[in-house]
Amino acid sequence: MQGEATMTEQPTIFALSSGRGRAGVAVIRISGPSARLILERMAAPCPPARRAAFRKIIEPKTGELLDAALVLFFAGPSSETGEDIAELQLHGSPAVVASVLRTLAAMPDCRLAEPGEFARRAFLNGKIDLTAAEGLADLIDAETDAQRRQALAQAGGAFARLCDGWRQQLLEARALTEAAIDFSDESDVAADALERARSLTRPLLTDLQHHLSAAHRGEIVRDGYRVVLAGVPNVGKSSLMNALARRDVAIVSSEPGTTRDVLEVHLDLGGYAVVVADTAGLREAEGAVEREGVRRTRERARAADLVVWVADATAPVTPPADLVTGETHILTVANKSDLVDPRGQSGTLTSYQAPLNISALTGAGLPDLLDRIAARVAQSVDEAAGTIAPTQERHRVAMKACADALVRFLSLPAPPPELAAEDLRLAADALGRITGRIDAEEVLGKIFGRFCIGK
Ligand code: GDP
Repeated sequence: MQGEATMTEQPTIFALSSGRGRAGVAVIRISGPSARLILERMAAPCPPARRAAFRKIIEPKTGELLDAALVLFFAGPSSETGEDIAELQLHGSPAVVASVLRTLAAMPDCRLAEPGEFARRAFLNGKIDLTAAEGLADLIDAETDAQRRQALAQAGGAFARLCDGWRQQLLEARALTEAAIDFSDESDVAADALERARSLTRPLLTDLQHHLSAAHRGEIVRDGYRVVLAGVPNVGKSSLMNALARRDVAIVSSEPGTTRDVLEVHLDLGGYAVVVADTAGLREAEGAVEREGVRRTRERARAADLVVWVADATAPVTPPADLVTGETHILTVANKSDLVDPRGQSGTLTSYQAPLNISALTGAGLPDLLDRIAARVAQSVDEAAGTIAPTQERHRVAMKACADALVRFLSLPAPPPELAAEDLRLAADALGRITGRIDAEEVLGKIFGRFCIGK
């Protein structure tokens, strides 16, 4: 897949790589075989590679001056896309940008880039692997410090190097099993080769499983730590959601829903993304609808990292024992604390372990609640700190497939060499799919379609 000689047949693509609208500077990038020619015609003379030069930008047919800009040229293949690249740092005016884009569109073999097409070309020309491309897309989307750090490491190839290293060892182990097949009539040699393959594979499996166990951390950092609010109707869940949404110090964004004012609130707590979701449905009418609501609430609670059980401080109800399972934590808060006399409270709340008193109405206790959630996030993330974590389900699925094949290979005391070779091939291919060395085609659209135009 990678390193295909696709460079010369490609049309030249261009796009506005900076944001739209008025700005100090607008950057237009051009990648492909005509990049140099375009600079010679629109911003002559083409500057030496990697040197910024100040040039007049003209419309070549009419000679009209479009702008005066800083111009750069990067010669392929040692450029970001692997092709010749030209970059125009124009004045960020919509009229300037429009006139330059129009002029570029009129150039022969030149067209506007599709979303992610620059990154896609970089992948096809072997400049980046799939995980680096995903890291780049994540970096552009990053809203918190932890997301930025993780995405930057992945874009820099940290995860790809890890996968490639494992894959190399598996290919070595596989070569040994192939040798065992070739020497199957000399049983000593065959057994020895197989044993060497196994001793190569054992530490690799341990290492792989270690990183796999950090997968949840990678996903928490990337997608956010999931908090679900649950409780019986009227305890103040939606009021709490709205109160959190109004605390704009912490807010990254909030998405208005249809049934509630706010369905999800995105917070930045201590550099980590936290997504707080309300559980609607419990408040619906009785009967089938209510049962469906309860079922959904339980489902969401199980998928969450933390369930905040909201109780009404004046009439507290304990959370159902089976609300959370597995690794989900639960935190109980007593809302409407403004309605109870602080000294009379302890009697009504004995059933709670250190409940946190809050009031969605007055905002009392909310900073405390956010601190506690932040502490939980930090705890979940720190457990796996220092391990390069897979960030996407796609990675986790492939690593799991690799680990399963290795467990199969190692579980048989004396596997037939053909079976051993097949398991090692499956294991190596699973890793190859992560970086795109194998079967990249099926995930290309999904990965590069995430980018905006100009990336
Ligand atoms: P939900 O069904 O759990 O989402 O509950 P709501 O958020 O709709 O709240 C139910 C009622 O309790 C509303 O009338 C709210 O105004 C009220 N309420 C919510 N939080 C507080 C609070 O902290 N103090 C007081 N006094 N009333 C509250």
